[in-house]
Amino acid sequence: MVVSLRIRASYSYTKSMFWADKIAKELSKSKKAQLVDDAKTPSGRVHVGALRGVTIHDLVYKALQEAKIESRYTFIFDDLDPMDSLPVYLPKKKFERYMGVPLENIPSPEGRGSYAGYYADEFIRVFNKLGSRPEILWSSKLYKDGKLDTQIKLALDAADKIQEIYEKVSGSKRPKDYIPFQPICEECGKISTTSATGWNGKYVSYECLENKVSWAKGCGHKGKEDPFSGRGKMPFRVEWPAKWVALGVTIEGEGKDHASKGGTRDTADAICREIFGYEPPYDVPYEHFLLSGKKMSSSKGVGVSAVEVAEILPPEILRFLMVRPRPMQHIDFNPELEYTIPKIFDDFDFARVSKEADLARIYELSQVEKETKKYFVPRFRDLVNLVQMPNIDLATQAEEIKGSKLTAEDKQALKERVKYVKIYLERFAPEEIKFTVKDNLPLEVEPLTEKQKKLLINIVNLVDKAGDPERLQNDIYQTGKVMGLSSSETFKAIYLSLLGRESGPKAAWLVLSLDKNFVKKRFEEAAGRI
Ligand SMILES: [Zn+2]
Repeated sequence: MVVSLRIRASYSYTKSMFWADKIAKELSKSKKAQLVDDAKTPSGRVHVGALRGVTIHDLVYKALQEAKIESRYTFIFDDLDPMDSLPVYLPKKKFERYMGVPLENIPSPEGRGSYAGYYADEFIRVFNKLGSRPEILWSSKLYKDGKLDTQIKLALDAADKIQEIYEKVSGSKRPKDYIPFQPICEECGKISTTSATGWNGKYVSYECLENKVSWAKGCGHKGKEDPFSGRGKMPFRVEWPAKWVALGVTIEGEGKDHASKGGTRDTADAICREIFGYEPPYDVPYEHFLLSGKKMSSSKGVGVSAVEVAEILPPEILRFLMVRPRPMQHIDFNPELEYTIPKIFDDFDFARVSKEADLARIYELSQVEKETKKYFVPRFRDLVNLVQMPNIDLATQAEEIKGSKLTAEDKQALKERVKYVKIYLERFAPEEIKFTVKDNLPLEVEPLTEKQKKLLINIVNLVDKAGDPERLQNDIYQTGKVMGLSSSETFKAIYLSLLGRESGPKAAWLVLSLDKNFVKKRFEEAAGRI
């Protein structure tokens, strides 16, 4: 008995601590300053999944800050990586020739600057909006400024050892005499096509091979390059740990594809220890963040970009979506399923007022600005109905639901929420929950029975005196019941007459949102009296 009580006590203790706070607590033991780092290749519009990485690292950073641990958060754009596929939204004619060229040397698809800069800026704007503001670093600049020189030399001098590590950890064979450096070809400007052939302590000699990769052609040039000039780079599995050492990174996670046994992370960790003599950063592997649904994949095969998803959810709710699950929990968000969007708003509003420690912490960390203002806002699904009703004052309706006057914060929250309700209705809401009051008597009233027609005439008399929707709703129901109609038959008569369909929002509210004379005339028409 005692044992089980103890287990329970310790379970509830761990449960009440948010995962990032646990990491901060663990790292605080070292008494050292911490550097959280994340990175991304800006190869095009950044996929929504990358937002999860930025947010996870941001959560660790914020937890460290709150625990008063000296810390920084850097985000590196790997802009020396080559263009290795052509995004479908770009003109093939203009960009095909850049396949294999480092992204920083490709012109921007719009305006001045580089291709890498263009897509990096787009991504930065999105994650800044979500409350993550890491210091931005560029791989090309780290190379040019000589920040990685020590690691480049160590790697080149230990090429054999690196090859051994690759084979030992990943189980895959590397070509013989593998040299861990790729120069940019001085003739054709490509980096994917070059293969280093020698290292003499000063220069890396290389060949630009015609068929090294299937997606870019090399020019056949043979040359030599100074590896400390910034005109070349280390392969990813060597460059990653090199950056950890050079910058002093102490926390960096990765998507689960890189985290598998014998995968990129394992190799990078081994190289970090054995070649650079540095203890690898604390690891936070994380699962995919998928957005499914047909309407969202605008660019074939590319999936949904971070920019696109930031248009359909407010920043704090998109952030909440990533803060709530643990890193290794899969997120599959399909906005086209009937309740996905209304539910995430409900969940957020629930967390907003929750007294439960876990949920309150999740809500707190979902904020994009420091101040969390208390406000009232009607449920998302109620607003879905209200915004579709004609001639309705939303603020008055919201006040009625709240039971008191709206504050300035309430009004602001309502305005913001309505914006996303409209986006939802326009783009994702299933047909069943959309409605419009028909200007003319819908043909769909044809199957109405004599009893239903009589009911409509009886409702005409109710409408005249009605003021309170609750009461009217009950009066309509009672009228039908007395006449021997089921609840469904009663309300169908109203929906068919006004909306031309069998279902709709709460009938009394709908009726009272309309001009009384219009409703009366419509019911009389439906009953065949006019
Ligand atoms: Zn070349």
